[in-house]
Amino acid sequence: MRNFHDPLDVLIIGGGYSGLSCALTLQKNKKNFLLLEASAHAGGRALEQVLDNNFRLELGGQYIAPPQKRVTQLIKDMGLQTYQAWGQGNHFFLYEEKVGTYQNSPIECLGTLLQNKLVQLEIEKALALLSEMFKDISPSAPWESKNSELWDGMTFQTWINSELTTFPAKQFFRFMTNQGFSTEPEQVSLLQMLWFFKTSHGLPPWALGGGQANRVEGGTGLVALKMAEKIQDKIKYKEPVFKIVQQDDFALIYTEKTIYKAKSVIVCVPSQLISSIHYEPGLPPDLHRSFSSLQTGNSMKVQAVYTKPFWRDKNFSGNGISYNGIPTFTYDNSGKDGSPGVLLGFITAGQATKWNRQSKKERKEAVLNTWASIFGPEILQPLDYIEQDWLQEPYIRGGHGCHFPPGVWKELGPALGKEHMPHFGKITFASSDIAKDWNGYLEGALYAGEQAAIEASLK
Ligand SMILES: Cc1cc2nc3c(=O)[nH]c(=O)nc-3n(C[C@H](O)[C@H](O)[C@H](O)COP(=O)(O)OP(=O)(O)OC[C@H]3O[C@@H](n4cnc5c(N)ncnc54)[C@H](O)[C@@H]3O)c2cc1C
Repeated sequence: MRNFHDPLDVLIIGGGYSGLSCALTLQKNKKNFLLLEASAHAGGRALEQVLDNNFRLELGGQYIAPPQKRVTQLIKDMGLQTYQAWGQGNHFFLYEEKVGTYQNSPIECLGTLLQNKLVQLEIEKALALLSEMFKDISPSAPWESKNSELWDGMTFQTWINSELTTFPAKQFFRFMTNQGFSTEPEQVSLLQMLWFFKTSHGLPPWALGGGQANRVEGGTGLVALKMAEKIQDKIKYKEPVFKIVQQDDFALIYTEKTIYKAKSVIVCVPSQLISSIHYEPGLPPDLHRSFSSLQTGNSMKVQAVYTKPFWRDKNFSGNGISYNGIPTFTYDNSGKDGSPGVLLGFITAGQATKWNRQSKKERKEAVLNTWASIFGPEILQPLDYIEQDWLQEPYIRGGHGCHFPPGVWKELGPALGKEHMPHFGKITFASSDIAKDWNGYLEGALYAGEQAAIEASLK
């Protein structure tokens, strides 16, 4: 027998940054709401693991770009501070046993490493062209852009092949797609890539040799915990929702334990899990197809922990790019005061698929051997080695974000809404995966949650 819950104004499903920001907005507007979270903790993809010395290791979203105003303000509101990620010393570029170092431009470094200026020039030219192309994309309605038919009719890889001639230059764009969007350039439409650049206000800064991102003192998981504390009595854990039934005046929301009744429902789950909930009546065909067409990426974070970041003594920043072994983007992810020393690698897209078929021991060896070839044999003896595979998380099952393959934006984009978050009757959908500002980022999750809360309050 299930319990019945008293009627609510709004019921939120999912306690990641989007669900939590939704809740804080409703709290400000004095709405009667409740948040149901499937797992035992708040934060979703901003997950942390507390190590022995109380160091909070971030396993998911962690970097904040300085122009991201909502998340920067939220961190202050939660009484926490940001600081610049470590970037002093030489970054490395490892390419077929050749190691180069750079301070600003990985592209210039690659050209020098390969003694092939054409590689550098081609990449720079293609990046400049992409910057021009995404200028006119509408963040709210990319399907209306002038060249949308052409650009949504091809994959990003087709465009790469038409603009670049050298293999290393093409490889650079694959690496950028893998690391930035956790997918392969063959799997994503060119229009989708341009829209990503538009909603994130530019090309990835690291590719352009731009400034360092910020981190949160205590971590992004702590920010989520503090948000959850503010709505303490209005959040319920271990309550996965499996069914929403819309009736004339209310929606009924089903979990194993309880049937909730609410005037509005906001679904803040990752887009690949939207269809794991049963809807009565069913979602309209276009909306159902657009959500089902969003392909999830694939990303793993691997981190090795040391007493201190000894690579800094060798004038390495700990940051860099490796095409060898398991291709990774590596970052120094040490504590703010340098304790403990942590190296972080992202394994993404097809490489994550491939290496996931190997054992954890094989992956660990491949990652550490690559890092050891740059920083020395001390790398092979970490105090701890932690892998986070987001596809394995039962209530996430995806990567950094989602993308459309060719043809979907043009045909089904309007179903996602132009001025509003996607909605159907009493249900509004919100997550970073469908945000029209900073799509795929923590900032995008906050944007989506706030928007959905405002729109649902008006219903
Ligand atoms: C490896 C990795 C690195 C990243 N790096 C960065 C970064 O450096 N900077 C950045 O800005 N972003 C980064 N991101 C992206 C960022 O973490 C996400 O965009 C953001 O956390 C998503 O928030 P969300 O609330 O939209 O979704 P989620 O965080 O996925 O939250 C969804 C919540 O819904 C819950 N849920 C699912 N199904 C149900 C159900 N049926 N009933 C109830 N609850 C349910 C889940 O348990 C989860 O808590 C990264 C992501 C990954 C995976």
